[in-house]
Amino acid sequence: MASSILIVEDEPSIAELIAVNLSHAGFLPVRAFQTEQASQLIKEVLPDLVILDWMLPGQSGVQFAKQLRSHERTKDIPIILLTARSDEMDKIAGLEAGADDYVTKPFSPKELVARVRAVLRRRSPQLADDLVQINQLKLDPVSHRVMATQDGIEVSIDLGPTEFKLLHFLMTHPERVHSRSQLLDKVWGDHVFVEERTVDVHIKRLRAALAPTNCHSFIETVRGSGYRLSKSPVS
Ligand code: CA
Repeated sequence: MASSILIVEDEPSIAELIAVNLSHAGFLPVRAFQTEQASQLIKEVLPDLVILDWMLPGQSGVQFAKQLRSHERTKDIPIILLTARSDEMDKIAGLEAGADDYVTKPFSPKELVARVRAVLRRRSPQLADDLVQINQLKLDPVSHRVMATQDGIEVSIDLGPTEFKLLHFLMTHPERVHSRSQLLDKVWGDHVFVEERTVDVHIKRLRAALAPTNCHSFIETVRGSGYRLSKSPVS
């Protein structure tokens, strides 16, 4: 699924240039001309990343970045700040406001796209198209395939779309415990109202699909907390 990128930029020609380059690169750009409009859009759907201009009519980009960082729902959205200023002090202020990266105008659209990819890869590896491997288990987001090597032979594992996303998220965030509500947020998506035990149902299906290749043991239940993918499972 294409990552959605919210562009907050009041200058139409720049917003257009960014949007065109992002869609060519396979992203889904959404545009807002000031932060109020951006807030409305974010209320509806959480974007995967925000490209935020510093100088905007009304609230500034830096103030908006701080605001996003201060709310539970939006605090983890990756932010790239755009600015005409190249002052070192400004750069520090931007990064202190919570921006993940900082691009100075005029910029090359290609460079901006590369920065978007780099920030997403760092902050949301489950959205990147990189092949992930944990021990004998491999997941390829491009071909949508999961493979496991068993006795020297590569076996293909069939997964439903939710189990695939769940495994992708767990494999890109190994060794950490994820609560059911965190998994719902990250895998099912924001604003989706499903019961927490739905997670258990899909974990069970995922384990069943992984069991023939003995990869099911990577997915550990952490009592009272949630689930964890471990490279060296206890049992
Ligand atoms: Ca501006």
